[in-house]
Amino acid sequence: MAIDIKALKEAVQSAYAQHHAAPGGENASYIPYLANVPSTLSGVAAVTVDGDIVAAGDSDFQFAIESISKVCTLALALEDVGPDAVQDKIGADPTGLPFNSVMALELHEGKPLSPLVNAGAMATVSLVKASSVEDRWSRILGMQSQLAGAQLALSDDVNHSEQTTNFHNRAIAWLLSSAGSMYCDPMEACDVYTRQCSTLLTTVQLATMGATLAGKGRNPLSKLQVMKPAHTRYVLAEMTMEGMYGRSGDWAYTVGLPAKSGVGGGILTIVPGLMGIAAFSPPLDPTGNSVRGQLMAAAVAQTMGYNLYAA
Ligand code: GLN
Repeated sequence: MAIDIKALKEAVQSAYAQHHAAPGGENASYIPYLANVPSTLSGVAAVTVDGDIVAAGDSDFQFAIESISKVCTLALALEDVGPDAVQDKIGADPTGLPFNSVMALELHEGKPLSPLVNAGAMATVSLVKASSVEDRWSRILGMQSQLAGAQLALSDDVNHSEQTTNFHNRAIAWLLSSAGSMYCDPMEACDVYTRQCSTLLTTVQLATMGATLAGKGRNPLSKLQVMKPAHTRYVLAEMTMEGMYGRSGDWAYTVGLPAKSGVGGGILTIVPGLMGIAAFSPPLDPTGNSVRGQLMAAAVAQTMGYNLYAA
């Protein structure tokens, strides 16, 4: 299907105009760095599988990737151990509980159910093939960068803020280990997971990640094939199940596209075969999804008539 770029520009501009200052929500406060990002920032962008870039607002502001990093590490684990092992060891179901839930683990005998909640994400980090902590980290950062088509970097500020406050995640890592669901040293997995959440990227780079996943793993800017074409469907299915946490079902019902949020305020939604749509604004709803990001990304998709279930 050909994309009408003029219509896409109008859709992005009108989504921004309508929703960039929408009220409601609060910055994440449990990670000190995130509490201090200006709440008024707001940006939206779309990148197509042909490499067209359309953006509005603060789309060049660098923000913390946070949980959207889980998508990148899942892509790498799929390359390393394959889709069957990911389904068997991590899972492909919604948890129905908050992203950092301990109860979700207790209810399912230590199986995380999804690579897109904290427990499943740390277990996914542990599935990545690596010879050392630094090797594990550099392979994960490499995958993030290849998906984004830009060399991403760790923010020492974000990382310090998270490493000194991530006690809950450390507890989850040990619980996974005791349940036999951790495949490297649990504190190594937690450390690398915390680093992977602490890289910075722009809304345009996030949309480019989406375009790479929309285009069967080929980055439209670098033209590199970043992952096996047959693997992107598993990433998109996992995003549909749990990408928006407790709002994943509502998002599928109303928007009808795979998506992933992060507590840094980023939202990525993917139109398979066509484009990635990304939005950013720090204030979050109670489930941890950007209030304005959801409105802007959904508005672009709706104006363009993109909905997998309406095709
Ligand atoms: N680093 C954050 C955490 O582990 C990421 C959470 C998120 O973005 N939902 O709590």
